[in-house]
Amino acid sequence: AEMRPFVYTANPARVVFGSGTIKQLPDEVKRLGLQRPLVLSTPEQTGQADLVESILKSGGIEPAGQFNGATMHTPLDVTEKALEVVNIHKADGVIAIGGGSTIGLGKAIALRTDMDQIVIPTTYAGSEMTSIIGQTENGIKSTQNTPKVIPEVVIYDVDFTLTLPQGLSATSGVNALAHAVEALYAQNSNPVIDLMAEEGIRALARSLPIIVEKKDDGEARSDALYGAWLCAVCLGSTNVSIHHKLCHVLGGTFNLPHADTHTIVLPHAIAYNAPTVPEAMKKLARALGHDDPIEGLNVLLTKLKVKRGLKEVGMPEDGIDRAADLALKNKYWNPRPIERDPIREVIRRAWDGEPAR
Ligand code: NAD
Repeated sequence: AEMRPFVYTANPARVVFGSGTIKQLPDEVKRLGLQRPLVLSTPEQTGQADLVESILKSGGIEPAGQFNGATMHTPLDVTEKALEVVNIHKADGVIAIGGGSTIGLGKAIALRTDMDQIVIPTTYAGSEMTSIIGQTENGIKSTQNTPKVIPEVVIYDVDFTLTLPQGLSATSGVNALAHAVEALYAQNSNPVIDLMAEEGIRALARSLPIIVEKKDDGEARSDALYGAWLCAVCLGSTNVSIHHKLCHVLGGTFNLPHADTHTIVLPHAIAYNAPTVPEAMKKLARALGHDDPIEGLNVLLTKLKVKRGLKEVGMPEDGIDRAADLALKNKYWNPRPIERDPIREVIRRAWDGEPAR
């Protein structure tokens, strides 16, 4: 085979994976030398945050308390409220239990204080493995890329994912899968990431359809979380292209739900790039267990019973042209150059919910 030169910089995170791994939290806290970590969650996950707090206490650690106000898009005012709690209770680290929203809050605190983060992911979105932080101020979302926000320790405990509703499990899983797909054709990918990407897609493609039928299937849940971790590493190690950029524009402009948007756009974005990246498509098809990668994605999404049209999640029809304009405005690398007419067609199909081709 042809020689493939590459650069691979692995992110310095410690990963603990399994079922019941939360019991190792006190040891991980002590390993980092933290005395008073603050537990972060959304209002919906206060119960899981309580459990984390009680495990800390039974391990001899007195946490600085909880902040349960994490919310979508990491708004600045929420970060400021959380920082007040950090200061009042003299917290010296954060423990984020939740999905991308809660992990984003932990990152926002770390960005400003340099405190250590321990993250317990409960969705498949993958923020825990990246140096990226998105924040909103006055309704405008901006992203930064800095190693300061990479969590020191990530504890994957399958048990916490059993409560993730079926619908969100499906879309969050496809959100993860999208990280791996874009890594397969990223300009700065490498052979190690290719292996992780293929294995991550394979694990999610076989487990998500089972989870959609049986939410608490332990084996499938463990498989899905394993796949999500691999995909998260892919996201943390490569630059994203058209799929993630489109989702960012669509989500931000029309305030669409994150995981649904990724799920709906993915087959269309991939179909756009497919002709220019045959090797990546071969790997994707192999991982999906289908001859044709786009058809393989369509079949998977049908099994997952997810929404297929952006019009179903709140995007107005006149947004198609606006989105196409915005997609052209922000310049970034993509294997196939971004052209107005075909991109508009990608967005139109995704809006209408047509199968990708
Ligand atoms: P989320 O964190 O907003 O969670 C969605 C809802 O599900 C919340 O109410 C949450 O409390 C609940 N939930 C989560 N896990 C649960 C569980 N196991 N059981 C029951 N309920 C549960 O959703 P998300 O999709 O994980 O994160 C989306 C956000 O993360 C977006 O803002 C996105 O931009 C960001 N994100 C950032 C990166 C990054 O690298 N910076 C990567 C991926 C996503």
